[in-house]
Amino acid sequence: MSTRVAIVTGGNKGIGLAIVRALCKQFQGDVYLTARDFGRGQEAVESLTSEGLKPLFQQLDINDLNSITAAAAFFKEKYGGVDVLINNAGIAFKVADTTPFGGQAEVTLKTNFFSTRDMLTHFMPLIKAAGRVVNVSSFVSCRTLNNCSPELQQRFRSEDITEDELVALMQKFVDEAKRGEHKQGGWPETAYGVSKTGLTTLSMILARRLSKERPNDGILLNACCPGWVRTDMAGPKAPKSPDEGAITPVYLALLPPGATEPHGKFVSDKEVQPW
Ligand code: NDP
Repeated sequence: MSTRVAIVTGGNKGIGLAIVRALCKQFQGDVYLTARDFGRGQEAVESLTSEGLKPLFQQLDINDLNSITAAAAFFKEKYGGVDVLINNAGIAFKVADTTPFGGQAEVTLKTNFFSTRDMLTHFMPLIKAAGRVVNVSSFVSCRTLNNCSPELQQRFRSEDITEDELVALMQKFVDEAKRGEHKQGGWPETAYGVSKTGLTTLSMILARRLSKERPNDGILLNACCPGWVRTDMAGPKAPKSPDEGAITPVYLALLPPGATEPHGKFVSDKEVQPW
């Protein structure tokens, strides 16, 4: 049997690094710490190596389509596909940042929604039978959903929303934010929140597609919240350590063979949450 392989995006620090650490201990196979910056990635690999773990490294900047396709080609060639993919890479502007809201919307949606979608577009065809895909979203995705207009809420919760419709809605948010018209468009004042509402919704769409197009492959795809975690993104006051933040993403990545659920859900503290 070929070696199994797990990949984590944004693995050089924070929750991503903690996910790689946990997978090195628990996953039977090769674990790839990926990072957009070669130097930061290598340093992180060395830090885990000094803990006695054996992560491998692959450069992967999700904002760079060439980097995504090169990585996808590498995993296809070396492993014939991918067993576990954790889309963890994400960004958030600091509250004090003075970048205008439209600019924040464009940059935040680019990484957290559009580039994560690019990852999924190029890696979903590589996911092997019994594979696991975990998208690290946020509890903020639910709060933001509840603060959208009733029309938007209905679309994000509907079973018939398509990927194209979702992409168009995310682009509409960015365009309206740039014109200062997002409130009239039914959106709340949070670019990060909208990006994560988009990511959770995308996860549900892709899970439904998997069930329809690969019903016998036993692949499980979910979105999750790691909790509020002490990282460069969330700051030192958050209650959870990065290792604690890794627990739910890793639980979803290691759902046992033959498991049929959760699938297409938003999961927090290992529990399916209402959407
Ligand atoms: P950090 O800022 O500590 O780490 C973010 C990671 O993402 C870094 O490794 C960063 O790389 C990487 N990254 C950013 N952009 C890219 C890109 N274009 N390509 C590849 N990697 C990229 O954040 P956290 O660890 O806190 O967050 C991890 C995930 O968890 C995010 O998706 C976040 O939204 C989510 N989350 C976090 C919560 C928290 O309380 N911390 C709560 C809920 C969700 P680099 O070092 O090069 O910038």
